[in-house]
Amino acid sequence: MDELTADQQEELQEDLLSLRQELRQLLTDSQQSSKPVELDQPIGRLSRMDALQQQAMAKANRAGIERRLKLIESALIAVKQERYGECRRCEEPIGYPRLKARPETPFCLECQGRIEEEC
Ligand SMILES: [Zn+2]
Repeated sequence: MDELTADQQEELQEDLLSLRQELRQLLTDSQQSSKPVELDQPIGRLSRMDALQQQAMAKANRAGIERRLKLIESALIAVKQERYGECRRCEEPIGYPRLKARPETPFCLECQGRIEEEC
């Protein structure tokens, strides 16, 4: 993979910043919907289960968003250290197409595959 050009670097940095803002907004929005379900409410059994399920999904969703936000933060630190776009495992360039699809990714495709195999 080729290293990022200065233009690509700049573009991806902007992507990271807008993605961070977007995800933070999502977290704020989902705060309202992940309030505890009122179990004393006289709602039917089915809708109560629906509510619990929705709550669990919102929680899993939030965990995913928080994980992504952490990756974005460390990607932004990597930008400052001029190491952005470098795989954190093999130190090879991650490549622009992959970063464009997921600017917060810390690993190249090959290492990502290996990590998933190990888990
Ligand atoms: Zn790698």
